[in-house]
Amino acid sequence: MRETTPITVARGDGIGPEITDAVLHVMEAAGARLKVEEVPAGEQVYRRGHLGGLDAAGWGSIRRTRVFLKGPITTPQGYGNKSLNVTARTTLGLFANVRPCVSHHPYVRTRHPRMDVVIIRENEEDLYAGIEHRQTDDVIQSVKLISRPGSERIVRYAFDYARANHRRKVTAFVKDNVMKMTDGLFLKIFNEIAAEYPEIKADHLIVDIGAARLADQPERFDVIVTLNLYGDIVSDIAAQITGSVGLAGSANIGDACAMFEAIHGSAPMIAGQGIANPSGLLMAAVMMLVHIGQGDVAGRIHNAWLKTVEDGVHTVDIFSRGVSRLRVGTHAFADAVVERL
Ligand code: NAD
Repeated sequence: MRETTPITVARGDGIGPEITDAVLHVMEAAGARLKVEEVPAGEQVYRRGHLGGLDAAGWGSIRRTRVFLKGPITTPQGYGNKSLNVTARTTLGLFANVRPCVSHHPYVRTRHPRMDVVIIRENEEDLYAGIEHRQTDDVIQSVKLISRPGSERIVRYAFDYARANHRRKVTAFVKDNVMKMTDGLFLKIFNEIAAEYPEIKADHLIVDIGAARLADQPERFDVIVTLNLYGDIVSDIAAQITGSVGLAGSANIGDACAMFEAIHGSAPMIAGQGIANPSGLLMAAVMMLVHIGQGDVAGRIHNAWLKTVEDGVHTVDIFSRGVSRLRVGTHAFADAVVERL
């Protein structure tokens, strides 16, 4: 009998429970060999006074299983509570955030039919290091932290990823013309490491014009490696122009643990209506299955998902007259994937 892999799952907030149910249903039907440990996370845990959005049992489960499939979490506003997303990435040492954004032309309407971009975002440093303090009542300072080891690790990860996945080019997005020291260091390290991978083209763009070009001609890009904040913004643009932010999944990779999630948030405006697209979390689950050595199941799910989308069975965010055939809710979409397994 083949072994089951323990994983930790949190349903999260807003549309999280709906899309997580859908994804667990598809994985079970596809024969994923998993032992699921469910933990509470997000609003219900913040309310019990845990500032990081997970309680001790939740952290314990992740440390044990080392694999965390996470529904989106509503970020608490104001002082005190900390974003679980950011806390998990730093506490668990998840230094690389991998976000593939792919068009599915002609099945999902997009102005960019030949888009296939992977954004690799540094996940622990930059303005997300959370070093903020008040200088006066009217002046707040936030520290942008960029280190050589952190930058070397993410840039090397990007080139290794490109090599392993037969990608031809890695582009760095930086703002070294203004942030000469921080972004300047990142770019210097990018150029040093690029020289070790002569078979992969390397170039760089200032992040503002890079984002503009990505929005207009994404087919010119292959792998993009960038700092934490730029990567957050640019990957939402990239996912949206493939058709919807609801389509993209992401992997947060560390040496000891990995966390998989959709790139979008908890979308409270559409929560509880059963209309959210579960595809982003499903694509994250596919990445998770590959990560834990169940590539066979991952492939089955991905193919069934592609067939569902190609058959025009679409949730409202990607529904478009003339392209889509059937408008479905979250669970009917998952059922359609299961029918095609
Ligand atoms: P969001 O990504 O949650 O939603 C923005 C809009 O995108 C939604 O109103 C909806 O129209 C659409 N959308 C998003 N996901 C969709 C899906 N699966 N199917 C269909 N449509 C979808 O962004 P927001 O409203 O700015 O953020 C809501 C909360 O989520 C905030 O608290 C934010 O901090 C948090 N957030 C969490 C994560 C995470 O858990 N990793 C990521 C981003 C934002």
